[in-house]
Amino acid sequence: MLRYPVVIAGGGPAGLTTAYELARHGLRPLVCEKHHIVGGIARTEQYKGYRYDIGGHRFYTKVPAVERFWHEVLGDEFVERPRLSRIYYNGLFYNYPLNLINTLMNLGPIESCRIVLSYLQAHMFPSRQEETFEEWVTNRFGRRLFATFFKTYTEKVWGFRARRFAPIGPPSASKGCRSRRR
Ligand SMILES: Cc1cc2nc3c(=O)[nH]c(=O)nc-3n(C[C@H](O)[C@H](O)[C@H](O)COP(=O)(O)OP(=O)(O)OC[C@H]3O[C@@H](n4cnc5c(N)ncnc54)[C@H](O)[C@@H]3O)c2cc1C
Repeated sequence: MLRYPVVIAGGGPAGLTTAYELARHGLRPLVCEKHHIVGGIARTEQYKGYRYDIGGHRFYTKVPAVERFWHEVLGDEFVERPRLSRIYYNGLFYNYPLNLINTLMNLGPIESCRIVLSYLQAHMFPSRQEETFEEWVTNRFGRRLFATFFKTYTEKVWGFRARRFAPIGPPSASKGCRSRRR
């Protein structure tokens, strides 16, 4: 009999959750993590006695089983907080997920016009190809809004070139903006 019937590559949330579930069902998985700590891009690092998350992580779900799972794992450490996320850009705060009215008001009339024109252009002449995050966002919000917010934010947070990765996750990032699926 194998000592570890299941080997999991990566100790991020997905690997740890899988291991937890397997252990709960009586299996003994082995989690292999290449980093010095587990948690993946949701991990907490320590520096000079302070703890830092790789980005503020909030938990939100509409799935009761997932909600129960989190309460089970965290117990009394589960804290509820009002949510307010904003991007500080050129001296102003922008709601995050982006809100069209707030964004246009902050950008001012000239830049707003450029963004609206770019938005209209994207909707009238969308790119046929929609394989990357850049193409996905540009088709829905226009090149100018992509270049202003989505590109820098996404590349900084996720550490990938927007041209290189597949369009996952944008709906939550763009909540409040109108979007269209082709
Ligand atoms: C700034 C920021 C804010 C976020 N905010 C939220 C939020 O508020 N709410 C939310 O739900 N999600 C949030 N996310 C997303 C969330 O962090 C990710 O969806 C989640 O961490 C993905 O988990 P994962 O296990 O699939 O991958 P990862 O977290 O990427 O973990 C993969 C793990 O595998 C390891 N690994 C990779 N290759 C190997 C290998 N060959 N051998 C061994 N180990 C390997 C890596 O070192 C890593 O530890 C945020 C992400 C970021 C960056």
